[in-house]
Amino acid sequence: MAPKKQNIAVIGAGIVGLCTAKRLQDLGFSVTLFDPAGIAQRCSKGNAGHFASEQVFPLASAKLLPKLPSMLLNPLGPLRIDWRYALKMLPWFFNFLLNMRPTPFKKHTQALRALNESALAAYQELLADCDYGSLITKNGSLLTFETSSAEQVEKTYLAFKAQGVSVEWLKGKEIQALEPTLSDNVNHALLFCDVGHSSDPHALCLHIYQCFAQSGGMFARTHITEVTPQSTQVTLLTDKGEHLTFDKIVLCTGAWSKALAKQLGFKVPLDTERGYHAMLNTHGALSRPVASAERQFIITPMQSGLRLAGTVEFAGLDAPERKERATMLLAHAQQLVQGLEQNQVTQTWMGCRPSLPDSLPVICQSPKHDSILFAFGHQHLGLTQAAITAKLVGQLCMGEQPDLDLTPYRIDRF
Ligand SMILES: Cc1cc2nc3c(=O)[nH]c(=O)nc-3n(C[C@H](O)[C@H](O)[C@H](O)COP(=O)(O)OP(=O)(O)OC[C@H]3O[C@@H](n4cnc5c(N)ncnc54)[C@H](O)[C@@H]3O)c2cc1C
Repeated sequence: MAPKKQNIAVIGAGIVGLCTAKRLQDLGFSVTLFDPAGIAQRCSKGNAGHFASEQVFPLASAKLLPKLPSMLLNPLGPLRIDWRYALKMLPWFFNFLLNMRPTPFKKHTQALRALNESALAAYQELLADCDYGSLITKNGSLLTFETSSAEQVEKTYLAFKAQGVSVEWLKGKEIQALEPTLSDNVNHALLFCDVGHSSDPHALCLHIYQCFAQSGGMFARTHITEVTPQSTQVTLLTDKGEHLTFDKIVLCTGAWSKALAKQLGFKVPLDTERGYHAMLNTHGALSRPVASAERQFIITPMQSGLRLAGTVEFAGLDAPERKERATMLLAHAQQLVQGLEQNQVTQTWMGCRPSLPDSLPVICQSPKHDSILFAFGHQHLGLTQAAITAKLVGQLCMGEQPDLDLTPYRIDRF
């Protein structure tokens, strides 16, 4: 059937669903987007805005193991486990540990690299007809080091180089020459030249939605409770009791994807790594994102001030937000950037990253039903990888050979 005659439902209006909806519309499909929360009200609302295409190494890395105890014991540390949730996440964590072995680590590095290499170009292609201005700026990013030795930094530098990442190693005064507000605590920095950031990732989502809506894209503020494959089509049941039939559906429901995937016959070990941000009323301090290798967080300059973002908390989807996980980032930022004061936090936020234990997303057509597609589980890289994911989903919907081998991202890999 000609694409323009086909109706596609995209479930979930986060950055992955929005890019997917726009891409499918550009290909000629008639697209309806569903989300009970509105446009990008969950994880895509408050992320760090870093198009982190340099992050080709899976989080499941053996290098993390010796650091885990001190991370967990430090109340200002980057990792927190709610012990009431610990039993529930044991299978995820065990699977995560298995993925630290050299063979899966190498395989997953290749798979992340494949997505990240085309990530920014895919945004440029997707948004060629939308004027996104400063919503995407390509000005590189810095990974800073305070206490690591020169040998340790060199190892990290060489590891990135070996993966073809465009990187420069800056030392001492070279760092302040680039970012004058960075403190003398920073001894080394890696400058990733080919990466970008968004001055407002939520505004970027709204902008993509506007382009989609202006070209006739439809949106329903509706929760999808059931997905039922028919012989060649798919029926959705909404929370309002409606039955809606589509030629294809794409599941872009982020951290909430487990239940719908299970209905469709797939048990995925999806959990959430909750992350936080604190906004500071500080303008002009930095010109690019600055991450800390030791403190494990990132500072991004945004339209509304400096955003301090990061941390990982295992507590499930429904536990209340712990504001102190966000505000504690200020003490870290004060060690990196000069002139930050105590009372500058204007807002805090928590988002549920959709994470699979091999640090890879699911991007595929259902092996059980051609009309069902999956695009979720982008963990720490959903903003970075949304447009390339959308491109791959578009190729699958068109019946074309995707640009990448999608084997590593299959839903039945677990
Ligand atoms: C603190 C923090 C910083 C981050 N920084 C970065 C960064 O700098 N760079 C980067 O690349 N990534 C970053 N990330 C990760 C990134 O934000 C996520 O990977 C990304 O937002 C996931 O997008 P998504 O569309 O899959 O999920 P979401 O944005 O969560 O969207 C999923 C949507 O599905 C909807 N939904 C769920 N169930 C249903 C249903 N049954 N019916 C209808 N709709 C449903 C939800 O309401 C939700 O809106 C960060 C994350 C956090 C928490």
